Amino acid sequence: MCATRTPESEAPVPTFRIAAQQLEKLPPCQASCPNSGDIRGWIGVIAQHEKNGLTIEQAYDEAWLRLAERNPFPATIGRICPHPCEDLCTRVDKDGAVSINAIERFLGDWAIERSLNLPVMPEQSWPESIGVVGSGPASLSFAYQMARRGYRVEVYDQHDVPGGMLRHAIPDYRLPREILDAEIERLLDLDISMAMNVDVGTTVTLEELRNRHALMFLGLGAQQGRRLGIPGEDGPGVVSGIDYLQERKTGPVSLTGRRVLVIGGGNTAIDAARSARRDGAIVSVVYRRSEAEMPAAREEIEAAKSEGVAFRFLLAPTSIVRSGRSIQHLEVQPMQLGEPDEQGRRKPVPVPGERQELPADMIIVAVAQAPDWHGMDKVVGSGDVLDASDEGRLAAGLWAGGDDRGAGLASAAIAQGRYAAEAAHAELRDLPRPVPDAARHPVEPGSVRTDYYAEQQRGDLPQRPAAAWLSDPEGEIALTMGEDQALAEAQRCLSCGLCFDCQQCFMYCNGAGFTRVEQTEPGKYFVLALEACEGCGKCIEICPCGYLEPRAE
Ligand code: SF4
Ligand code: SF4
Ligand code: SF4
Repeated sequence: MCATRTPESEAPVPTFRIAAQQLEKLPPCQASCPNSGDIRGWIGVIAQHEKNGLTIEQAYDEAWLRLAERNPFPATIGRICPHPCEDLCTRVDKDGAVSINAIERFLGDWAIERSLNLPVMPEQSWPESIGVVGSGPASLSFAYQMARRGYRVEVYDQHDVPGGMLRHAIPDYRLPREILDAEIERLLDLDISMAMNVDVGTTVTLEELRNRHALMFLGLGAQQGRRLGIPGEDGPGVVSGIDYLQERKTGPVSLTGRRVLVIGGGNTAIDAARSARRDGAIVSVVYRRSEAEMPAAREEIEAAKSEGVAFRFLLAPTSIVRSGRSIQHLEVQPMQLGEPDEQGRRKPVPVPGERQELPADMIIVAVAQAPDWHGMDKVVGSGDVLDASDEGRLAAGLWAGGDDRGAGLASAAIAQGRYAAEAAHAELRDLPRPVPDAARHPVEPGSVRTDYYAEQQRGDLPQRPAAAWLSDPEGEIALTMGEDQALAEAQRCLSCGLCFDCQQCFMYCNGAGFTRVEQTEPGKYFVLALEACEGCGKCIEICPCGYLEPRAE
């Protein structure tokens, strides 16, 4: 049967007009933070504290609470995250990105000094007992998110102190142990208990734990260094980056005068290289791509250079040549950069017919790490990581997150722990699943009018003198900014995609469409009455942060 078509001349003429609307957008900093931190939100509490009747001290407390909703370790992550959030900050091309990571660290230290308590959900308690294997960032984030929702959580770990790789691998000069201790200690004020020295697979089986708890989370980490797979690798003098870093956390290691080559370009490689310098070695990092492709944080690479670490780029190891059992040199293949790979990094390809020899006494291999699947036979599939859903669900009552799912960064591990807890709680309580932040409308490029905001250079972050590492090798080099600098940095935020009370729309509206709300808070300063909107579009044009936009009615 044919449908009867209305002649075009008889079709109803659409009657709509363009009106302004207020629409909160996802800012680029949040979109690029692995933990999807509400950066604009907690910075806005500080930057706009006077408008909202808060003293600066109240604002710092409040900002920390907002930050800690998603990240219970701001002092830790504020020291170690390579801050991809800053790379895409809208301010980056104007006068430098907002120092998000440094403000995060400042707030973390602020909360430790004042013994602030973590934010919990409204008083409630649920009967299900939750078990967690591992005590690294993913596990502790999951434990925190479940405990603050009213569950009793027991964490099992094979070590005698919690913290996973944060404790056992990150050098003290980047993350002092008392900072990590303080942030873990605070978790124990919630209903979380730690069963240490429990090796799942030896002391207890995973099946026993699953019978003991209504729901389990696996945050196994990735503590096994991958091998190069080249001749000469087996034998003394070759160690994985992660093993070397763990060893020097248990006591002093002396490498005085030894020639150490560190293979790799990530943060573990740079940690190993800087640590080996502190242990007295002559250190070179060998990387098969160029410096531009190194995944390690820029400031870590610069710090390594200032401490005397040499870099040898575009060289791929081919064999370790020994004299007897001692290492003589590393044979390397010179490379050149070819086409970009699937991650957009240019692939290294061999330069035909060339070989070089790099003299060495010790080789630290820091190319990648893998989980130890010991005790996990029944849940491990055929891949390198656990085959879980995006939320982290492995099976009924079994969830996972962190490096066993390929998280890579501690902030990504914290996010995976949180996502799993949010989804597991929704499943247990039969609630709707949380909506991912990525589903929100992003700030469109160019919609923030950077010319509206006054020029204000990014402040230099406080540092000890570069040579301080010689006199106090395990002391921190980067320092925490002071209160005045934290406030000044927060006030550089452009509040991309959310109202910050500049009042331009209020002043320029032809139809008096904007009314100030009585109880203001960051992002909530005016309501817009659509019936008063004349559709002139002036407010949309003038709003500097891209919060207002047209809507067809
Ligand atoms: S966790 Fe990392 S990416 Fe996220 S806000 Fe902190 S520094 Fe930025
Ligand atoms: S200016 Fe502020 S809201 Fe915009 S990207 Fe930077 S930190 Fe985020
Ligand atoms: S013009 Fe100013 S006050 Fe109005 S919505 Fe935009 S940021 Fe808020």
